[in-house]
Amino acid sequence: MKLILLVGLWVGVGGMGTEDLPARIPTLQRLQLERLRAVHEAREVFSGTRHRPPWAVGLNDYRAVIHAHSFLSHDSRGTWEEITAAAHETGTQVLLMTEHPAEEYDVLARARHGLHEGVLFIPGTEENQLLTLPRTLRYRPPESSRQAHINRILADGGLVFIAHPEELTDWNLTDFTGLEIYNIHADFKDERELLTGLERLDPKLFLLLLQAERTFPQEMFASLTDVPRDNLRRWDQLNQRRRVVGIAANDAHSNTGFVLKVAEGGKVRVEDILGEDLALLDPTQVPLLPALVADKEPGTEVLRLHLDPYARSFRHVGTHILAPELTEEDIRAALAAGRCYVSFDWIADARGFVLWVEKDDQKWLMGEEVPWQQGLTLRTTLPCPAEIRIVGDGKVVHTVNGPEATYPLPAPGVYRVEVYVTLAGEVWPWIYSNPLRVLPRR
Ligand SMILES: [Zn+2]
Repeated sequence: MKLILLVGLWVGVGGMGTEDLPARIPTLQRLQLERLRAVHEAREVFSGTRHRPPWAVGLNDYRAVIHAHSFLSHDSRGTWEEITAAAHETGTQVLLMTEHPAEEYDVLARARHGLHEGVLFIPGTEENQLLTLPRTLRYRPPESSRQAHINRILADGGLVFIAHPEELTDWNLTDFTGLEIYNIHADFKDERELLTGLERLDPKLFLLLLQAERTFPQEMFASLTDVPRDNLRRWDQLNQRRRVVGIAANDAHSNTGFVLKVAEGGKVRVEDILGEDLALLDPTQVPLLPALVADKEPGTEVLRLHLDPYARSFRHVGTHILAPELTEEDIRAALAAGRCYVSFDWIADARGFVLWVEKDDQKWLMGEEVPWQQGLTLRTTLPCPAEIRIVGDGKVVHTVNGPEATYPLPAPGVYRVEVYVTLAGEVWPWIYSNPLRVLPRR
C-alpha cells in the first residue's frame, strides 16, 4: 500500500534528477519466491504490450554487450562457443570483449575478431580502469599516466571508456570516448547483506538463492539492480562540457557461484565456479546436506549454484547501437558519436526506442549536437508504454506516461531521457538514452 502511494506521488513531480525515485525493496526481500513470481508475471504483461513504433530513423538497432571476459582473462574460463551461444540466446549481435592483459600471451592478438556466426567481435582490454578498443591488435603495456594511455588509444583510432567510474578519483581526465553509466559487477558489489551471507556460506541464503535460481533465474539476477545515481550525476556534469558517451558494462565473467562435491572422510568440499577451493564442510553441521551426500563417491558433484552464466548477464542489460550495418566501422562510428542507449532488456527488448530532436524536416539523433533555434522539438518513441522522464541539464524537466513523448525545447541544454517501468509496485530502470547537446550559436 505504502509503495503504491509513493509511486503515485512520484509521477509528475519532476524538477529533480533520480533522487525522487521511491526507495527500492531490499535485495533479500526481492529474492523471496512470491516477490520473484510477481515481478516475473508483471514483466510478461509489460513486454506483451510491445508494438512496433513508427521507426523514425533509417538505421538498424544492434544490441551490444560491452565489457565481457573470456578464458583469455585470468578470472574467467568462458570459451568462444559458450559466449557466442549466449549472444545468440539473448539477441546480442555485437560483443566488445575487454580482457585483463596476461603476461604470457597477447590478449589482443589471440582474441576473436570480426563476424562469427552472425556476432561481431571487437577485441579490447580492461586495465588502468579503462576499457580500450584499439585499432592495432597488438598489446602494449599502459603509458605512465592514465591520460597518456587514453591519448595513445585515441591516436590509434580506437575508443576508450572509463571502467568502474565509481572508483575513479582522477576526474581531470579528458578526451576519453565515454564511461560506463552502469556496471553489473559494481551493482553487485554494494549488496552487503548478500555478500556477507555468501562469504559465511549461510545455508538459509544458499537455499533462498538456489530456489530463486531454479525458478526465476533472470529475476533473481535482476534483484541486484540499483539506479546508478552517482554515475548519472557525474555523466550529466561531464556532458555540460563535451560529448561523453554513456554505455552499459556487463562485466560478464561467468565465474560466480558454488559447487558442492563429496570429499574424503564424509566431508563436503565447496568450490567456486572456476574450481577454486572455498571450504570443507562437515555435513552433520549443515541442514539437508547429509541427505544430499549419502552413499556418494568422493569427487561426486552434488549441487551447483551458478549465479552469472553469460546468457543471464548478457540479457540483464545491453547497449543498443544505431548503425547502418553490422560492420566494425559502423559500430565504432556509432559508439563514438553516442548513437546508442542503455537498456535493461531483462524487462523487455527495447528495440524500437529512439530519441531525436526535430524542426520541420530536419532531424538530429541522440549523440548529436544541435544548434539552438526556436521551434525545436524533442521526440522519443518506445516499443512498450512506460514512464518517460526527460532530463535537461541533469534535472527532470518533463514526465510522460505512454509510448511516446513530444517536448518543445524551451532553451539550449543537454537533453536525454530515462525510462522507468513499475513491476509489481516497484519502479525499475529500463532505458537510459545518450543525450543530445543543444548549444547556443557561437
Ligand atoms: Zn571486467
